[in-house]
Amino acid sequence: MKKYDYLIVGAGLFGSTFAYEASKKGKKCLVIDKRNHIGGNIYCENINGINVHKYGAHIFHTSNKDVWNYVNQFVEFNNYINSPIANYNGELYNLPFNMNTFTKLWNVVTPEEAKNKIEEQKKEFNIKEPQNLEEQAISLIGKDIYEKLIKGYTEKQWGKKCNELPAFIIKRLPVRFTFDNNYFNDRYQGIPIGGYNKIIEKMLLNCDIELNVDYLKEKEKYNSLADKVIYTGMIDEYFDYSLGNLEYRSLEFKTELLENIDNYQGNAVINYTDEITPYTRIIEHKHFEFNNCKTTVITKEYPRNWKIGDEAYYPVNDDKNNQLFEQYKLLSNKEDNIIFGGRLGNYKYYDMDKVIESALELVKEEI
Ligand code: UDP
Repeated sequence: MKKYDYLIVGAGLFGSTFAYEASKKGKKCLVIDKRNHIGGNIYCENINGINVHKYGAHIFHTSNKDVWNYVNQFVEFNNYINSPIANYNGELYNLPFNMNTFTKLWNVVTPEEAKNKIEEQKKEFNIKEPQNLEEQAISLIGKDIYEKLIKGYTEKQWGKKCNELPAFIIKRLPVRFTFDNNYFNDRYQGIPIGGYNKIIEKMLLNCDIELNVDYLKEKEKYNSLADKVIYTGMIDEYFDYSLGNLEYRSLEFKTELLENIDNYQGNAVINYTDEITPYTRIIEHKHFEFNNCKTTVITKEYPRNWKIGDEAYYPVNDDKNNQLFEQYKLLSNKEDNIIFGGRLGNYKYYDMDKVIESALELVKEEI
């Protein structure tokens, strides 16, 4: 008899959701993480009473009512609606691409005028079936928006030319012919009141937790403690990159406490869509929670090339990497008693709701 039913490697949203459900069903879980805190990338650090999204802004949104009810059992959500602004060399535009963006850019008045403008620009390029992000973007919103609001941002963000990137990335963003600046189309949206940590803390209440643990260095020891392992780290790293490494994109966050400023930019998220500004966005965290304290905290987000040893934030889901992932998946199927999950274990550009969905799916199969 081993001490635990499950060893969960990674205390992020996937691992914590699984741990919560498993422990609720009477399973004993040990959750380990290499960081010195739980929560993975949704972890918030409290600075001067402001919840700072330490590993990048997280806005919860979903159309899945079950998932919405699920997260609401842990914490109440506020009514934050994400409406980022794009700053292109000092010109400000509303996001996502909607009538406010179109009128500012083209002086058009009606949806029909905006559609005609896009059609006109699209025609120049004669795109039938978009083969990459550039073609996808131009066929959705035309050349002007592509050049001012997409090209620079995307090439900084991914470190590749838009015509070398998969089209699906830009389809994450809505295009609307209404004056609606809500970045998401989902039915439910908000930020947890009191921060994301509250969710994870409640999820892991009945589990044992060990922090600052490098599982891959102490695999034997930790494997011997549990019947089964749920692994939420990078799948290629688990196999010591034996088939070559998958590509990821990394980020650097530069956070500043501005003690004499109560409102730095008037919005939670401002994207810098030109190609020269080295960061992609500035986050002013207090606006996520309508916090009216006298100071503010901002974070500039710098995309970085990823190399072995760096934090991996985004999988680069192009064909080449997806195929390599499939090979790693075949390897993982041959491993006994270990299941891979989450953004890094599944090498998928999951949003938080999809992470929860897939963890709950796994619980259903497993327990
Ligand atoms: N994007 C863009 N301009 C923007 C915002 C987003 O071109 O002002 C593109 C960019 O390619 C980005 C993708 O849309 O990678 C998805 O954006 P999202 O905000 O969903 O990215 P995340 O918040 O996951 O980094």
